[in-house]
Amino acid sequence: MTTMIPYGRQDISDADIQAVVDVLRSDYLTQGPAVPAFENSVAGYCGAQFGIAVNSATSALHIACLALGVGPNDIVWTTPITFVASANCVLYCGAQVDFVDIDPRTYNMSVERLAEKLAQAEKFGNLPKVVIPVHLCGQPCDMASIHALSRQYGFKIIEDASHAIGGKYRGEPIGNCRYSDITVFSFHPVKIITTAEGGMAMTKDAQLAKRMQLLRSHGITRDVNEMTHVPDGPWYYQQIDLGYNYRMTDLQAALGLSQMQRLDEFVARRHAIAKRYDRLLADLPVVTPWQHPDSYSGLHLYVIRLKLKEIGGTHRQVFEDLRAAGIGVNLHYIPVHTQPYYEGLGFKAGYCPEAEHYYDEAISLPMYPGLTEAQQDKVVDVLREVTAK
Ligand SMILES: *Cc1c(COP(=O)(O)O)cnc(C)c1O
Repeated sequence: MTTMIPYGRQDISDADIQAVVDVLRSDYLTQGPAVPAFENSVAGYCGAQFGIAVNSATSALHIACLALGVGPNDIVWTTPITFVASANCVLYCGAQVDFVDIDPRTYNMSVERLAEKLAQAEKFGNLPKVVIPVHLCGQPCDMASIHALSRQYGFKIIEDASHAIGGKYRGEPIGNCRYSDITVFSFHPVKIITTAEGGMAMTKDAQLAKRMQLLRSHGITRDVNEMTHVPDGPWYYQQIDLGYNYRMTDLQAALGLSQMQRLDEFVARRHAIAKRYDRLLADLPVVTPWQHPDSYSGLHLYVIRLKLKEIGGTHRQVFEDLRAAGIGVNLHYIPVHTQPYYEGLGFKAGYCPEAEHYYDEAISLPMYPGLTEAQQDKVVDVLREVTAK
C-alpha cells in the first residue's frame, strides 16, 4: 500500500513536545499562565491590543458575533466558499445568514457583488449587521474596500482569518484589525500553526475584548467593577451574561506559544513550495493561484483549477485518479449554500454561480512545511499523467 501524501499536516518539533510536557508537570493544566502568554504572543505578533484564546475558531466566530450584538432579526453575510463554521456561527445567534458570491480570480468574497448586494439591501431595508470576509487559502480579502463599504452602510466586520495567520495585507500583519472589528484565527492541525484544537479572536477594542472574555467562560466575572453589587465574600464571582465553556487549555496554549516561534519560517516554507508548484505546473492544463499584489498570503492552501476543456476528462475523474495514486488532494470548499442544511433554509443551487463554477474545477494540492521536493515532484508527475489522458 502506498502511503498517502496528505493535503496538509502539522509540524511538531522536540521543543513543542517539551513545552507541552512542562505544562503537564506544572500546577495548571488549564487557566494557568500559558493561555495569557500565548494571547500576548499572538497579539504582539499581529499588532492587535487583545487576543482571546478559545477552544476553536468556531467558538471564536460565535463569541465574536455575540460580542457585536448579533441576535434574532439580524442578518450576517459571508462567502459561500468557506468552511461551514463561518456561516454556522450566525445561526448559533439566532440570526439569518446570507452569501455574497466570490471573485473569479482570488476566490474571496467579491467586493463588486458585495457593493451591489448592499445597494439592493438598503432599498429593501435588510442591510447586514455584520459581514464576515474569509481570507481563503490565506490570501487576504480586499479589506480596504470592504471597510469603506462598512462605513457607508454601517455594518461591522469579522475577518475569518483561519487560513491566514502569518500573512500580510498591504505590508501589515493579518490580525491587527485595521480594517475590521474582530479577526479570528484557527489552530487546527492542518492550519498554519496548531494547538491541536484552538482558536483566537483578535481585537483592538477593549469593550469587545471584555465581552468575549466573559462569553468564553460562562458569562462569569471576578472583576468587582463589573458586578452589580459588592462581593458577598472572597469566594464570590458573578454570572452577568449567558456564556459558554469555550476555554483553551494550558497544554494547548503552550503548544501554540512554542509554534509561534516558527510561524514566519512555516509561512516562508509554504511560499517556497507555492513558487515551485507555480513553476512546475506552468505547462499543465490547470490555473495556478493568482496572488493580488496587496497580499502576502499565509498560504494555508494551494488550490488549482482544472481547465476541463483541455483535459477532456471530468473533475471527479482527475480527483479520483490523484487519490488512487496516493496524492491526498482535497476540495476547499463545497459551496455552503448548497449543503442540505442550508437548502433546508431556502438556499438553492444557482444562487452563487461563480462559487459553484469554482467548485466544479478546484482541487487543493498537498501544501505543508514538511512536504519534500520529491513528494512535490510526485504530485506534479501524477497530475501531469492524469490530466494528459
Ligand atoms: C478551519 C476553519 C474554521 C474552523 O476552525 P476550527 O478551529 O476547526 O473551529 C473556520 N473557518 C475557516 C475558513 C476554516 O478554515
